[in-house]
Amino acid sequence: QPESQLSVDLLPFGDQQQLLLARDVSHISRLEQIRRDFVANVSHELRTPLTVIHGYLELLDPEDVPELAPVLTEMRSQSRRMGQIVEDLLTLSRLETQHEVTDERVPMAALLAIVHKEALALSQGRHQIALESTAGMDLLGSPRDLHSALSNLVSNAVRYTPKGGSITIRWQRTPEGAVYSVSDTGFGIPAAHLARLTERFYRVSSSRSRESGGTGLGLSIVKHVLNLHQARLQIDSKPGVGSTFVCHFGRARLLPPDHA
Ligand code: ADP
Repeated sequence: QPESQLSVDLLPFGDQQQLLLARDVSHISRLEQIRRDFVANVSHELRTPLTVIHGYLELLDPEDVPELAPVLTEMRSQSRRMGQIVEDLLTLSRLETQHEVTDERVPMAALLAIVHKEALALSQGRHQIALESTAGMDLLGSPRDLHSALSNLVSNAVRYTPKGGSITIRWQRTPEGAVYSVSDTGFGIPAAHLARLTERFYRVSSSRSRESGGTGLGLSIVKHVLNLHQARLQIDSKPGVGSTFVCHFGRARLLPPDHA
């Protein structure tokens, strides 16, 4: 029998009194658990058949049947995309059930160099991509999860910035700790969408996002990874001008670099 869960609120009541409101929310958290398990199970079950389909598609040689070559290219690209969605769903399921992260040293100079390189590869010379790293600090947390959060923001900047635009990746100290930010001169996001951007599969323009090759889960993953590191995501954007995604990390997550 699962434990009962209560939601407790203290409300002002008259001048001198307060009202304690306790609600039984066990059924809501049980439903939430069922939803999470279902998504995780479906994703897991889809993994093997997708790997098989993808494997066979890779084996087919377009030169054997030239008239089917464009079809084969499209099938390969769609099966890769489906595979990416399944992997992202599995990552999200893991992050949703996790309550804390390992406290490992994440060497930022090396990680930023990797993220910068990934951005250059994805952009293929279509953008100017600068790296400004002045914080001189490492992070404490999960290297794998931080890598996926930091590179998700950069790949979004590349995918939502037209050719010729600029992207700047920054890692700087602030009075509260340090910030990692990615600025672009891309399409920007209308204010009405900002609050919902980190919801699963939420998209400002579904056709543009689908064309850009994303899974619709990137910012959701970013938000979960930041929460697990007690960090906060701030989004500033102006349609037609560009966007800046800022991750605020507290001092407790910073470490002086290890020069040994
Ligand atoms: P997707 O895979 O669709 O990119 P994300 O969760 O990474 O999914 O992003 C959600 C939506 O937020 C995107 O579909 C896009 O509309 C918008 N978005 C994210 N990053 C940017 C950006 N740098 N510039 C403009 N729009 C962005």
